[in-house]
Amino acid sequence: MADKQVDHVDMVIVGAGFAGMYMLYGARKAGLSVKCFEAGDGVGGTWYWNRYPGARVDIECLEYSYSFSEDLQKEWNWTERYAGQPELLDYANHVADRYNMRDDITFETRVVSTIFDEDSQRWIVKTDGGHTVSAKFCVMATGLISAPVDPDFEGLENFSGEQYMTSRWPKGDLNFSGKRVGVVGTGSSGIQVVSEVAKDVGELFVFQRTPAYTIPLQNHKSDPEQTAKIKNKYAELRELEGQSFGGFTMMYSDLSPLPSKSALEVSAEERNSEYEDRWASGGLSPYYAYTDTILDEESNNTLGEFAIKKMKERVNDPVVAEKLTPDYAILTRRLSPETNYLETFNQDNVNLVDLRETPVDRFTKTGIVVGGEEIELDVIIFATGFDVMTGAMDRIDIRGRQGQSLKDRWSTGLTSYLGMMTHGFPNYFWVNGPHSPFYNPILLAEYQGDMIFDAARQLDEMGKTCVEARPESETAYVDLTNAIADMTLFPKSNNYYMGDNMPGKPRKVLFFFGGFVAYKEQCVEGYTDLKGFLVS
Ligand code: NAP
Repeated sequence: MADKQVDHVDMVIVGAGFAGMYMLYGARKAGLSVKCFEAGDGVGGTWYWNRYPGARVDIECLEYSYSFSEDLQKEWNWTERYAGQPELLDYANHVADRYNMRDDITFETRVVSTIFDEDSQRWIVKTDGGHTVSAKFCVMATGLISAPVDPDFEGLENFSGEQYMTSRWPKGDLNFSGKRVGVVGTGSSGIQVVSEVAKDVGELFVFQRTPAYTIPLQNHKSDPEQTAKIKNKYAELRELEGQSFGGFTMMYSDLSPLPSKSALEVSAEERNSEYEDRWASGGLSPYYAYTDTILDEESNNTLGEFAIKKMKERVNDPVVAEKLTPDYAILTRRLSPETNYLETFNQDNVNLVDLRETPVDRFTKTGIVVGGEEIELDVIIFATGFDVMTGAMDRIDIRGRQGQSLKDRWSTGLTSYLGMMTHGFPNYFWVNGPHSPFYNPILLAEYQGDMIFDAARQLDEMGKTCVEARPESETAYVDLTNAIADMTLFPKSNNYYMGDNMPGKPRKVLFFFGGFVAYKEQCVEGYTDLKGFLVS
């Protein structure tokens, strides 16, 4: 398509998920002219694309929601403790409408390149819709877990049945009633879709390579009284989140103290009762039982053993239960809260196919061959994961000073300053992206967004044009991030946090695992008087 006229704006934002929407709100508030591009035909990001049956958040909605506006926080009422995808999308649309965001968003348009122009010191952004925009600042709000891994199986092109990916689920209802359905992948998405689809299929085949640790989500309808109580102490809740490791802190939909002890400091009885309490509350609450669960193997084992015992109690057939049992340190891969996932394997029409025993040979016209035997299928669903953190940005041609490509830079290992930018790419930021802390993504977007707007303000006050990471600040941040990861158990299992799910991806930690408090300290140090940055 021929290029349309070149627009000039202060800031281009890529992506209109929760992070992009906050950036848009903040940019306007900061008096910046802004343009946002979004590949989907609506806002919502993750909750726009992942509309598979069973898709549901696993952080309590009272926490997994914007904090920037007291009014917004108070006026919106969640119907469930953990909302399903439709309600999360409604919330995103409500925010977009409330702040007239759509005026500055161009939908169904993918950014294909962002190239720094040395002469004008601006970013030239091009889209697949033929737009060219010149921007002072570029912000990638492209999501941390948003670039799906396409299924790559021999013979898949011959399969004549229906094919779906959880991460690109079509709009509208699908009917699996009476059909033979296969699901490949048992991470959080696979687990959610299996639990839901199992309700009305003819026969279900779950193709599992690595079993996940799961815990009941314990979802229920919101209790208006409890909600009102929390709304009255929202400031306290947000403060607590800010002091916490991951920004999700509640138990039983209420404020809950942060952990202060090692699991090894307490008696076995006390620990057991703590874990029972966390299982009864559900969701991600085990992350906060003790301070050292992801640091110390012995401490980690106490939680892992408890989780396995709980999981096995729910599966009738001991052979199936054994196959569903994980063999790595708990929490080093994402814990998967679920509703009746394990119980689905007690249904006569649900089959667990252990791909470690019988790997996938190939697809045929009528099904899939595993361990030499064909399983006939009408439908195959892939829940095979994402190119986490770097994937979404790697799919865009991003070039900084001297035409250097960001993808090339990251091909030998991830580098960033504060998980928000890298040297040689002036005024180019990302939110919820590579090297960001493991933290409630909506709240993190607000925090990082505010840092970016503050940098823009400081730059303006200094009468300067460009801000970019100092190479030495970046090296220090990368060293710190890697050193912290090495102190944890994450490098000990195969997991996407370390890039292990992508063949050829350098094995480097993709998240800052030092906790949000330590992360904020780094940001405050770097952004104060822009000390961590070069300005020009
Ligand atoms: P994932 O955790 O990366 O899981 C992908 C699954 O596909 C794994 O079981 C993986 O097995 C399997 N797989 C990949 N390639 C395969 C192959 N060639 N053959 C067989 N199996 C294959 O991805 P996800 O489930 O989409 O979840 C990603 C993240 O999104 C979650 O960790 C979570 O952070 C987020 N999420 C959150 C929610 C929620 O809030 N409720 C819901 C869904 C997702 P291996 O492990 O053996 O590679």
